[in-house]
Amino acid sequence: MCGVVGLIGTAEAAKEAFLGLTMLQHRGQDAAGILTYDGDGFHRIKNIGLVESVFNRENMLSLTGNMAVGHTRYGTTGRGDMIEVQPFLLSYPFGMGIVHNGNIVNCREVADYLKKKARRSLLTRSDTEVIINVFAEGLARTPACSPDGELSFDHICEAARGVMSLLVGSYSIVIPIADKGLVAMRDPGGIRPLVWGRRKAKRSEDAAGILESGEAHIIASESAPLGFLGYELERDLKPGEVLYIDPKGNVHTRVVDGREARPCMFEWVYFSSPESVLDGVPVYGARIALGHGLAGEVRRRIEKGDIKADIIVPIPESSRIAAIALAEDLGIPYRELLIKNRYIKRTFILDSQEKRQRAVNLKLSPVRSEIAGKSVLLVDDSIVRGTTSRKIVELLRQAGALKVYIVSTCPPVKHPCFYGIDFPCAGELVASSRDLAAIERELGVDAAVYQTLEGLRHAVSAGQSGFRPCMACLDGAYPTDVTAAQGFSCARTKDRQGGNP
Ligand code: SF4
Repeated sequence: MCGVVGLIGTAEAAKEAFLGLTMLQHRGQDAAGILTYDGDGFHRIKNIGLVESVFNRENMLSLTGNMAVGHTRYGTTGRGDMIEVQPFLLSYPFGMGIVHNGNIVNCREVADYLKKKARRSLLTRSDTEVIINVFAEGLARTPACSPDGELSFDHICEAARGVMSLLVGSYSIVIPIADKGLVAMRDPGGIRPLVWGRRKAKRSEDAAGILESGEAHIIASESAPLGFLGYELERDLKPGEVLYIDPKGNVHTRVVDGREARPCMFEWVYFSSPESVLDGVPVYGARIALGHGLAGEVRRRIEKGDIKADIIVPIPESSRIAAIALAEDLGIPYRELLIKNRYIKRTFILDSQEKRQRAVNLKLSPVRSEIAGKSVLLVDDSIVRGTTSRKIVELLRQAGALKVYIVSTCPPVKHPCFYGIDFPCAGELVASSRDLAAIERELGVDAAVYQTLEGLRHAVSAGQSGFRPCMACLDGAYPTDVTAAQGFSCARTKDRQGGNP
C-alpha cells in the first residue's frame, strides 16, 4: 500500500506534493520521493524514510516546475532499497516518470515479456518499473513517436489499453510526460483508490507555467489532501479510466477497460484517513457503521453470558471511530486506555514479525489505574496475523484486567492479498485454518467477536445497491486471475523479513 499524488498547473507543485504526501504518510512509511518537471528537465529527490526526513528547505529548492508527482512507499514487492524508491524515470519516449499504488500479480511474466520481446532490460524487481515500460512501449509504437508525430489522447489511451490488457492486479498510477502533461489511470477493477480535484490556479510571476488555463489539478490516493491544499474534489477515477491533462490545461477522460468496480474494503476498515471519501463513501461514516454492525453480534454474546464488559477500549488509531459507535449502542463506557507513542511507526507496516512484536511495547502504554480490576472489551480494526492483538491482550492482563474480550470490525482474514496489502502468506494469518475457539486461545482472550461479511459490505457501501467491494482476503473471491501469484507469496514474505530496511 502506498500513497501517490500528482499536480499540474500550480506554481507550487513541489510544495503541494510535499504537503500532499505528508497527509498520505499513513499509507506508507518506508520511503518517499517527489519528481517535478519545469520545461527544461525532470528534477527528483527520493530516499528511504518518512516524508519529513527525506525533504528539507534546501533540497526542495531544486524541485522546480509546475508539474509534480510524489510517492510515499510501503513496499510489498522488490527488495525495498533505494533503487526501488519511487518516482521512477524513463527517458524514451518523450521522457516520463511514474508513481504507483498497487501490486501487479503477473509482474514476473510481463518482465520476461519485456525482456524477450521488447528488449527492455529492467533495473529493479519493482512492478512499477514493469508498468512504466509497458506504457512506454505502447506509446513508442504509436504515430506520436514518428519525427513529426504529435501525442494525442488517442495515443495515450492506446498505450493505456496495452497496460490494462497485459497487467493483472491493482494499480492507481500517475505519469508526468515531458512537455505533454499528466496522465492518471486506475486498474479495470478500481481496486486501489484514486481521486481527482481542481482549483482555480494561483498565478505566480516566476512560475515556469506550462498551463495557460488558470486551473490547477490534483490526483491523489485519497481525498484528504485536497481540501487542505484548496482543491475541490471533482470525482474518483472510474475503474479502467484514463485521465489526461494536456499542456493547455484541457482535461481528457475515457474508460478504456472498465469492469465491475471492486475497491478494496480495507481502505475503509484500516488504511484511509477518516476524513477521506472514497468512491462516494465517507471513511468516517463507514467506520461508524462498522461499530453499529458489530453491536448486534456482541449483544448476542452478552446475552449468552460469554461477555460481561465494564469498559470498551479501542486499539488506537483506526478502531477508535467504530469503538465509539459500539459503546453508544451497547451503553458500555468508552475509555481510551491504551496511550499511543506517536513517534513509533504503524506495526502492521513494519516488515518482520519480531519488529512487530517489539514495537507493541514501545508503542502502546496501558493506563493501569483505570484497567486494574475491570473486564475490558478491546476493539481492533482487524486481526490479521494476531501478533499485535495477542501482545496487547498480554499488556492489559499485566495491567490488572480481570477479563479481556476482543472484537474485530473486520471479519476473519483467511486468504492472502495479492493486491498490495502485506499479508501474502496464508500460513501467517491467524484465522486461515482456525475456528473461533482456536483463535480465542491463540489470542489469549476470554472471547472474540468478528464483524460479519454482510455487516462489512453494508458498512462500506453506504447504501449503494450493487456495490461489491473486493473482500477476497475474507471470502477468497478474487476480482482478477491470481494464478501467477500463487506460490510466490510465502517466499516473498520471507524475503522481506530478511532484507528490508
Ligand atoms: S484481498 Fe483484501 S486487502 Fe487485498 S485488495 Fe482485496 S479486500 Fe483489499
